[in-house]
Amino acid sequence: MQIKKTAVVWFTNNLRIEDNKPLYEACAKYENVIGVYCFNKSDFNKTQFGFKKIEKFRAKFLLETVKDLSKNLLKLNISLFTFFSLPEKIIPQFCCQHNADVLFFQNEFTQEELNTIKAITQKLPKKTAVNSYYDQFLFRPESIPFQINDIPEIFTNFRKEIEKNAKVYNTLSITSKADSNFIKVDTPIPTLKDLGFQDFELNTNTAFPFQGGETNAYKRLNHYFFISRKLSFYKKTRNGLLGIDYSSKFSPWLANGSLSVRTIYWQVKKYEQEHGKNQSTYWMIFELIWRDYFKFLSLKHQNNLFKLTGIKQLNYNWKRDAHLIRSWIDGKTSNQFVNANMIELKLTGWMSNRGRQNVASFFAKDLLLDWRIGAAYFESLLIDFDVHSNYGNWQYVSGVGNDPRNRKFNVQLQSQRYDATGKYRSTWLQHNLF
Ligand SMILES: Cc1cc2nc3c(=O)[nH]c(=O)nc-3n(C[C@H](O)[C@H](O)[C@H](O)COP(=O)(O)OP(=O)(O)OC[C@H]3O[C@@H](n4cnc5c(N)ncnc54)[C@H](O)[C@@H]3O)c2cc1C
Repeated sequence: MQIKKTAVVWFTNNLRIEDNKPLYEACAKYENVIGVYCFNKSDFNKTQFGFKKIEKFRAKFLLETVKDLSKNLLKLNISLFTFFSLPEKIIPQFCCQHNADVLFFQNEFTQEELNTIKAITQKLPKKTAVNSYYDQFLFRPESIPFQINDIPEIFTNFRKEIEKNAKVYNTLSITSKADSNFIKVDTPIPTLKDLGFQDFELNTNTAFPFQGGETNAYKRLNHYFFISRKLSFYKKTRNGLLGIDYSSKFSPWLANGSLSVRTIYWQVKKYEQEHGKNQSTYWMIFELIWRDYFKFLSLKHQNNLFKLTGIKQLNYNWKRDAHLIRSWIDGKTSNQFVNANMIELKLTGWMSNRGRQNVASFFAKDLLLDWRIGAAYFESLLIDFDVHSNYGNWQYVSGVGNDPRNRKFNVQLQSQRYDATGKYRSTWLQHNLF
């Protein structure tokens, strides 16, 4: 039964209307629903290693995403108020101003986000209840066959158990609210300049020429699955380096939640019914389980995700040589394959998975540099930065995470194997003018 009360939905990394549990629950249970998003000012400051948390590529993508969310919410008669401030300041004030009975949001579990959530809940008006959900997983934590502390340290053991004994929930669709739910929005979405960046054009060679937002996420999914049917070849092409279609490119939309991981899962199932199942269609789900796995490891190991000794608590003799770090960032190391990848990242905010593994291995295992600095640089530049996947993968490659074999990439051999003709290197090395 619906009660005549007001819910505020605070959007964070769940910038979509489809399959959004907090939004769905708010709409199902409350008559008045209001959306709010706060561009967090502290994300645009420099952190301990000297990089901004968010550089221009992710900032642009985020702005496009929030604009699209606002349009999509409007179709449901829901207003989205946006601010450029600190969420812990804005959200309690907003709830107070709108006399909110409840605040809905997506649960986060890394320290800074937990601090923000704590600060918000402490300042909320007495009458405002809190409802939050883990909504970023393929397999919700309450549905997996492990206690969080017993999550296996080896991916294969996790995957096999999950594949047998966990279920993926159906996606949720929201019905429109009444016209009267919409209230005039008097908080304009900030511009790129407001966030501290100049406007810029995308590099013509970028492998990620897409815009942010749920609408574009669906276009991309439709293209990759049903129009081009590239999904049927994904396993063969996923180690590619050039062009838009060697892999799905879903990660930036997944990272800010403008695409639900469960939507992808069910679209793979639909595709398999229509066009046949093969190793490639399975491999897409396999990779999405990797994504979940890093989130579960982060839930289990908490702040060890960010510590130099990693989740394995291993001590190595890491260096912090500023000259070596700069040469890696600028694509001026002794290895041209590493250099090409680093230039691609600097000019586009994108790098392939193969590239990421190589440059991270080179940073940590050849140059022996403090892996957290490399991870912080990735955090700043990547359009698809996701805290769990980034820090988890960096640990994995650096030998302090969950790689049972602690492998080192031979970057020379890797470039011969994956860039045999040198086309990838020449595409990006021509820009090496810094
Ligand atoms: C050092 C390092 C840092 C990384 N940092 C990030 C990051 O910040 N954000 C991020 O989303 N991914 C990160 N990855 C994982 C991976 O490189 C990207 O997810 C992938 O390249 C995104 O391209 P895609 O969407 O076309 O992937 P596809 O190959 O099409 O895969 C589909 C989806 O599966 C998931 N996935 C694939 N590979 C991985 C993986 N190794 N770990 C976790 N999930 C995976 C992603 O959600 C991806 O969108 C990192 C990998 C390394 C080695």
